[in-house]
Amino acid sequence: MASGEVRRIVIAGAGQAAAQALQSLRQGGFDGSLTLVGDEPALPYQRPPLSKAYMKGEFEEERLYFKPAAWYEDQKVEVLLGARATRIERPNRTLHLGHGATLPYDALILATGSRPRPLPCKGADLQGVHDLRTLADVERIRPQMVEGRNIVIIGAGYIGLEAAAVARQMGLNVTVLEMAPRVLARVTSPVLSEFYAGEHRRQGVTILTATQLSHLDGKDGTVTGAVLADGTVIPADMVLSGIGILPNEELAKDAGIACSNGILVDRDARTSDPAIFAAGDCASRPLVHYGRDGRLESVHNAIEQGKLAAAAILGLPRPAEDCPWFWSDQYDLKLQIAGLSQGYDTHVIRGDPVARKFAVFYLRNETLIAVDAVNSPPEFLASKKLIMAGAKLAPAKLGDTSTPMKDIAAEAAA
Ligand SMILES: Cc1cc2nc3c(=O)[nH]c(=O)nc-3n(C[C@H](O)[C@H](O)[C@H](O)COP(=O)(O)OP(=O)(O)OC[C@H]3O[C@@H](n4cnc5c(N)ncnc54)[C@H](O)[C@@H]3O)c2cc1C
Repeated sequence: MASGEVRRIVIAGAGQAAAQALQSLRQGGFDGSLTLVGDEPALPYQRPPLSKAYMKGEFEEERLYFKPAAWYEDQKVEVLLGARATRIERPNRTLHLGHGATLPYDALILATGSRPRPLPCKGADLQGVHDLRTLADVERIRPQMVEGRNIVIIGAGYIGLEAAAVARQMGLNVTVLEMAPRVLARVTSPVLSEFYAGEHRRQGVTILTATQLSHLDGKDGTVTGAVLADGTVIPADMVLSGIGILPNEELAKDAGIACSNGILVDRDARTSDPAIFAAGDCASRPLVHYGRDGRLESVHNAIEQGKLAAAAILGLPRPAEDCPWFWSDQYDLKLQIAGLSQGYDTHVIRGDPVARKFAVFYLRNETLIAVDAVNSPPEFLASKKLIMAGAKLAPAKLGDTSTPMKDIAAEAAA
């Protein structure tokens, strides 16, 4: 689509990817009409603090917002909040909203994110059972996080474990239930799983792996306990569910746009309809460096795809794709992840898990594909570049902490 033909851009969904696309469109010189449609009542905000410092009450609400209301006015962005996009009428290039309004577009960006996977058991609708995705969720959760109360967290992924750390630090009795044989099973290696399970246990969290939840018990409509498949009852004053997310792809699917665990896009974030783009958690994209498609659930991915969509709509050169990265904060542990470790054949530990400062490198055919760096920023930063360069590295060298990481990186680049 030539940039000159585009005078009206509509973005459905008002989160991380949308915020980036708006900025990139204006920075890229787009001076036509820009409309943002978001079903939450809030301006676009960052979600990572919701399970970290903001949940703990150590991060002010204003800091969550990417931009203040005045920025949207200055940039002449029409912002429709509390408004849900319900249907795309592709032949007329029109987006329909829940309250009956219609928005014609020349280009449409779907930045609808994802939603928590619902707990598939009896009792999931009891009072005191929560998801953790939105600011409104945290407003409901926080008043219940009172010292001495019992919280059961279902799912030991990053969000579940971050919430467990916060709850523990706030003095709650925390039990984490995980169906898989280890924590973080879907996202990282056994080495990291063992380290994080150990750390949580040391902090007083009860972690039950290979454990199946049967249902939730309640009294007078409020949750009182989590019942396991073997009949054990774990008392709960509140339950937090963190069992993964589902992409919000229905808008695209119902309009006949190709989807497969996410809205399928090309390297320019363009869907199977050339006037419609998708970015962020809702999109499944080519992971060029890894030679496959995939859906990433991260801030970096939402930002990168927001930029890609804006550039493609404006007819600007495609921005270079960066190494995928992610982070997680639990207690005083800062985990930084670069690359995607699936399919590794060798791992190398550099540093000492006991000292709580180490990195696990993942290699395939001696080529670095990912790193998990705990309290080790140099290893993370160097790895981002080495991964994208397809660097071949000798395991013995990587594991040798007497050689600084920057020297290893310099040698690999030479
Ligand atoms: C608690 C938590 C902690 C996280 N921590 C980290 C972290 O440490 N590091 C990291 O990299 N990532 C983290 N993430 C993930 C990261 O926040 C997401 O990957 C990112 O927000 C995705 O951006 P997005 O724009 O695709 O979706 P979102 O930011 O979710 O925005 C999508 C928006 O679209 C709205 N919407 C959906 N459908 C419609 C519709 N039909 N009409 C109108 N609006 C609609 C949604 O309600 C939402 O407001 C975390 C996520 C959560 C929930």
